[in-house]
Amino acid sequence: MSQRLVLFAKTILTMDRPKPIEDGFVLIQDSRILQVGKRSDLYFSPSLRMLDLGNTLLLPGLINSHCHLDFTLFKSKVKYQGGFREWLRQMAVKSRATTPAEFKKSIQSGTKQSLAFGTTTLCDVASSWESYPLLRKSDLRSFVFFEMIDMAQPSTEKYWKIFQQRLKSLLRQAPSTDTCGWGLSPHTPFTVSKELFQLSKDFLTHHRDVLTTIHVAESREESRYFKSGSGPMADRIKVLNPSWTIPHSTTPVQYLSQNGWMPKLNLGVHLNEVNAQDLKSLAKNRIAVVHCPGSHAYFDHKLFPYGRMKKMKILVCLGTDSLASNQSLSLFREMRLFQKKYPEVSSQEVLSLVTVKPAQALGRGAELGRVKPGYLADFIGIPMPQSRRKKENLYDYVVNYKKPVSFSMINGESKLRLAETRR
Ligand SMILES: [Zn+2]
Repeated sequence: MSQRLVLFAKTILTMDRPKPIEDGFVLIQDSRILQVGKRSDLYFSPSLRMLDLGNTLLLPGLINSHCHLDFTLFKSKVKYQGGFREWLRQMAVKSRATTPAEFKKSIQSGTKQSLAFGTTTLCDVASSWESYPLLRKSDLRSFVFFEMIDMAQPSTEKYWKIFQQRLKSLLRQAPSTDTCGWGLSPHTPFTVSKELFQLSKDFLTHHRDVLTTIHVAESREESRYFKSGSGPMADRIKVLNPSWTIPHSTTPVQYLSQNGWMPKLNLGVHLNEVNAQDLKSLAKNRIAVVHCPGSHAYFDHKLFPYGRMKKMKILVCLGTDSLASNQSLSLFREMRLFQKKYPEVSSQEVLSLVTVKPAQALGRGAELGRVKPGYLADFIGIPMPQSRRKKENLYDYVVNYKKPVSFSMINGESKLRLAETRR
């Protein structure tokens, strides 16, 4: 039998029990949690390995539901000057000028930053595809979504054939693992053709376990394009692909619905521009929505409809998006930005948007996002405040935490041990 490890921490926020556990322990075997409780309740055995984290607040590892590690080194390199379509064009130019070696550097830097700020699971949209082999070998738990975009392609059929061949060969060399899975990500409803939506939909019918994500209803320009078939997006598409069918009198969400993609979708990213019918459709198809507060502020999008989504029981999660449109890959910062816009939402609820909710969205609600027996041993630790005021809300303390984390464990293995004191 493999050795068991017990972690002691001053306080544990489990996201499972309503109250924190003071002077607590977590017993781990391999990658799973066996037991959680108060130190005084632990049955000591000489075979137990012990790690006392001292004055640490232990909590579930954070889950970043949307990121592009490819663009970590694009920080401050592409300027947004008020036009979303123009920003996308500049991003495409910058990407084309980036070498595979530069993408690798970018991904490695983003992985390091994510880990330092408490992310233990990361959903990455991969345009260069370089992130899959790197994340697979990295310390993070990850879901890599291979991006599809055929707007400037002469033949969708050929594009899809090559895409599938490339995917097959990549997965043959490097199959998914316990800590690295993969999925598909059509880029947006305006850069993927009806034909490619259809082909990928057929593929997903035969591969039911494959997760999916898409950027949708992000900007005013996107809304205008679907509503009237006009504006900067329509103008640019006409130049890039004169034979592209331009929609009208619809919304990005309804367009996805018309293309049969709503039942296939797991994580819808952004959804700033939605009407009542769109919300109904999201709720009906049980699509989780990823809100990226930092990126949202960068583009000055319309207010994200958190309250309306919550009322309709739509699952909302937080993501950082990439550093091309954000300042940091810290989910603590995203939680603070979110709470600034929604001060009425409790810190406990805000923390659930990067733990319990994304775990459910990824279909892993029974093993990620909580410190609970049977769950995977993914934790982070941050130093407890030196002197604690009575009735201090620890969830507020977590949301307002600004430094790198002092401890992190993923799949039962310690990745960062800055606060460790061995017994
Ligand atoms: Zn994105």
